[in-house]
Amino acid sequence: MKKLAVLGATGSIGASTLSVCRANPGLYQISLLAAASSVDKMFALCREFSPDYVSMSDPLASAALSSRLQQAKLACIVVDNEEQLLQLLASSEVDSVMAAIVGGAGLTTTLAAVNAGKEIFLANKESLVMSGALLMDAAAKSGSKLWPVDSEHNAIYQALSAKLQDSIGECDLEGEGVAKILLTGSGGPFLNTALDSFAGITPAQAVKHPNWSMGQKISIDSATMMNKGLEYIEARWLFNASKEQLQVIIHPQSVIHSMVQYKDGSVIAQMGNPDMRIPIAHVMGGAQRIESGAGCLDFFSSPDFSFSEPDYQRYPCLKLAIDACYQGQHATTTLNAANEIAVEAFLNNKIKFPQIAQLVERVLNNSSAVQVDSISHLLEIDKQARQSALQLINRENLC
Ligand code: NAD
Ligand code: MG
Repeated sequence: MKKLAVLGATGSIGASTLSVCRANPGLYQISLLAAASSVDKMFALCREFSPDYVSMSDPLASAALSSRLQQAKLACIVVDNEEQLLQLLASSEVDSVMAAIVGGAGLTTTLAAVNAGKEIFLANKESLVMSGALLMDAAAKSGSKLWPVDSEHNAIYQALSAKLQDSIGECDLEGEGVAKILLTGSGGPFLNTALDSFAGITPAQAVKHPNWSMGQKISIDSATMMNKGLEYIEARWLFNASKEQLQVIIHPQSVIHSMVQYKDGSVIAQMGNPDMRIPIAHVMGGAQRIESGAGCLDFFSSPDFSFSEPDYQRYPCLKLAIDACYQGQHATTTLNAANEIAVEAFLNNKIKFPQIAQLVERVLNNSSAVQVDSISHLLEIDKQARQSALQLINRENLC
């Protein structure tokens, strides 16, 4: 049995991953469960899955979990500092890693596993947006296999030839006859909302995605379509795609999860219910199809499919991300960091919905174009962007 580490185990992707494990006992041994602070959830997972190791990034949560595990006489080892966690990920205790921590917080663990040549199930798109070529180069050097978990990238992967699937990061799309990667997105909850009412959008309205059930941050990103922008950057790196080879298409029903158009006019789409257990089961099964626990698509009750071009006035974050993709690593790192701060501020009612894009744009405008050649340099850029975003929120009372 392969040994699996689930990073972000208490979140939405973590829950779907463990649900796929439940549906396929005997496929993976749970070696490590890691999360931030939800002690109750983690304790319940420890009871059910008996991981060898458990980690909580919040020290108080870690101590509380430790004493509950002792009381319950559960034998898993609590890893209570980051260095130990990174060492564990690189050790023979772990074969495969579900990278599902939300945001830039997932970068160091993802990188540690990549550098150690582990098999990575990549859900944490922000780590790739932040580190781009550095992460892809690290994977090429260590021989780490990156499996796209994001439903769009997983759909694209499934629609590519075996040769392209085996050359993630270095795909010769043109050589294999690919004309375009068509990245679909639902348009989120405000696809048809009047633009002049955007300032009144509340966090509760914005987290309610019409088709998907997800964590808070990605739900807000889906409402602004920053999520599709991050995915555009993610696709650029995973599939080595040029500007001409990438297009975003609005498909409100979320049944087609993305498509690949070939030069002969053929288009291959991957379809299914909007349920993350499907791409998760695909990557966890590797070469084999396994049970996901998700229902099958019912074509007779599926609504008609529709498609449209994204409107950048409605989705300025999407435009900012696509532009940043071609400005360079400093810009995508800055965009991601500023967006994380903006989303948190919006969720805490400190800024209004349209100010998410405004804030990201201002932080990008204030940043300088520099060549990023190391992880420590990009972490510095990330820190500066976060500080700059926080200063703008506090100083100017943006609300
Ligand atoms: P979530 O908010 O539901 O869960 C996040 C998880 O990360 C939690 O377990 C939390 O405890 C953990 N976490 C946060 N900070 C941490 C830290 N510093 N150290 C350790 N653990 C930490 O988020 P989610 O929706 O599951 O998304 C996770 C990632 O997967 C994101 O990068 C998201 O973009 C990506 N993703 C999610 C979906 C989806 O349907 N939810 C789809 C595609 C991609
Ligand atoms: Mg996605």
